[in-house]
Amino acid sequence: MADCLFCRIVAGDIPATRVYEDDHLVAFKDINPQAPMHVLIIPRRHVATLNELASGDDALVGEMVRRAAAIAAENGYAQRGYRTVFNCNADAGQTVFHIHLHVLGGRLFTWPPG
Ligand code: AMP
Ligand code: ZN
Repeated sequence: MADCLFCRIVAGDIPATRVYEDDHLVAFKDINPQAPMHVLIIPRRHVATLNELASGDDALVGEMVRRAAAIAAENGYAQRGYRTVFNCNADAGQTVFHIHLHVLGGRLFTWPPG
């Protein structure tokens, strides 16, 4: 989608600090990091919110979650711990409507979240 920020990052039209990419996914550093490690994992294909996921996307979502674990491990946070977040729609504070999995690490996270 031409007007989607993250589709434009996938296409390379907007720069991002990529930390991983493959045929299905791109992962890059969040521009406004909320922790020492703050990476966003997105599918190359546009999906606006979690609500648009279909059963055929189960493998894609699995790849996103497993990639989060791999990136956390590469950064040394596997044992210490890290936070993964999908925000969906207004009440959760979703601002970019192309699904993305936040992967945060390097500080203590509280629960419940704000
Ligand atoms: P959310 O609030 O869950 O929709 O998260 C959107 C995230 O995208 C925020 O953490 C932003 O800081 C991040 N973001 C927005 N624009 C960019 C960009 N150009 N490059 C990297 N991250 C971005
Ligand atoms: Zn998109």
